[in-house]
Amino acid sequence: MNISRLARAIAESPTFALNEEARILRERGEPVINMSIGEPKNKTPITAILSSATKLSGGDIKYTPPDGTPSLKKAIIRYTEENYNKIVAPENVIISAGAKQSIFNILYSIINPQDEVIILAPHWVSYPEMVKMVYGIPVIVTPEDGTFHPRMEDIERAVSSYTKAIIVNSPNNPSGEVFSPEFIALVVEYCERKKIFLIMDDIYHKLIFDGVIWEPAYKYTRADIENTMVIVVNGVAKLYGMTGFRIGWVVTNRKLVEVMTNVQGQMTSCTSALLQAAAEGALNGMQSVVENLRLTFQNNKQVVVQELKSFKGVKLIPPKGTFYALPDFRAYLPSSLANDSVELSKLILKKALVVTVPGKEFGMEGHLRLSYPGSVKEIKEGIERIKWVLDPTSPNEIYIGDRKLVRDWL
Ligand code: PMP
Repeated sequence: MNISRLARAIAESPTFALNEEARILRERGEPVINMSIGEPKNKTPITAILSSATKLSGGDIKYTPPDGTPSLKKAIIRYTEENYNKIVAPENVIISAGAKQSIFNILYSIINPQDEVIILAPHWVSYPEMVKMVYGIPVIVTPEDGTFHPRMEDIERAVSSYTKAIIVNSPNNPSGEVFSPEFIALVVEYCERKKIFLIMDDIYHKLIFDGVIWEPAYKYTRADIENTMVIVVNGVAKLYGMTGFRIGWVVTNRKLVEVMTNVQGQMTSCTSALLQAAAEGALNGMQSVVENLRLTFQNNKQVVVQELKSFKGVKLIPPKGTFYALPDFRAYLPSSLANDSVELSKLILKKALVVTVPGKEFGMEGHLRLSYPGSVKEIKEGIERIKWVLDPTSPNEIYIGDRKLVRDWL
């Protein structure tokens, strides 16, 4: 079959692939613990259900404007004012099928072939693939000091005359790091000066722990919305646990919204009217939903930190937000696995039925991403099982489901 070279070069989403593997195992009745998926476990907020139910029962589900319904835009404008202290117009907002499509649409609309996009490792799995999909070149910048926090000097070293954009994701998937206000101020100032687009992926912005400060990039620019290089991406997936509703949005200047609207109009026509109504319900409804999720994840983070402490060789930089942790397992990697997080993840799945995501997918070999949006019981059991697989000082017998297993490989 004669498939395009570009399409063939795009990797499968590893997180979706692993999630599917977990689902199949669970369907077979296996006592699998899924620490791979990036979605909250809550039920859909009631205000989102009611708002979409009203829309549905009205029986009038038609095309919407390609850039989104005026009423959801209104809710996003209010959200932007309340959370970003920024007043924007409807012409500054475009709604898409998830923040994923929002980011793709931005890249499609700003990148010429061979333009470079700076991505800060550890990074969300989709950024490099999306950049490649628009014939751009991903340039990965990894902190050289062993932390998960980017440094301005590393970024400046990676910038070339082809650099078109930098993507910043804080709170960060996969590390849970929250970038300091000082760093945000520096990167904003740099991008405004150099005329490099600064794409702020704020999808986790309220999921922060223990009083850590998160500051919107807008705070550090003097440029108005029509002139700033800052582009903000957000959505309802993570903050409201509405991953299946597929609603994300972009706030930027009118010209870019116009171009993105043309692109979207030719590609998907518009985002579903029904799902836009749901997002509107969430944004206009009780915001305690978000705070409850935040508190759950903060508590779960504490459990993860505590449980991983008993792994003497595992190094963890405690997450400051999200529901991910990215521990460094290099000390425990059997010599046969060397630095191979893919093999490590497979070993843990095979022996202990715990699904994790290899750090390699995020540009951090030797690490595994553990998602912890689930129950404390599941988190504790998941980590206990990983410990059983890797740590010779842990008891060599374990119950997985109702099976008693004996470790015979360490
Ligand atoms: N950005 C990051 C950093 C993410 O982790 C995700 C979801 N995993 C997205 C964007 C996409 O969000 P959505 O579900 O709204 O497409």
